[in-house]
Amino acid sequence: MNDTDASDRESAYECFECGTIHRSASQPIHCPDCGGQMRNRETALE
Ligand SMILES: [Zn+2]
Repeated sequence: MNDTDASDRESAYECFECGTIHRSASQPIHCPDCGGQMRNRETALE
């Protein structure tokens, strides 16, 4: 486990509408590309 600074971790968020993936430390409210709803991608890849 590497949990030194949780606030600095980036997560991937995928747009429901257009499928665009954005990486951000905080969840985007709307897709910057189409304004659609974003969801957190729960990837097990490290
Ligand atoms: Zn989108």
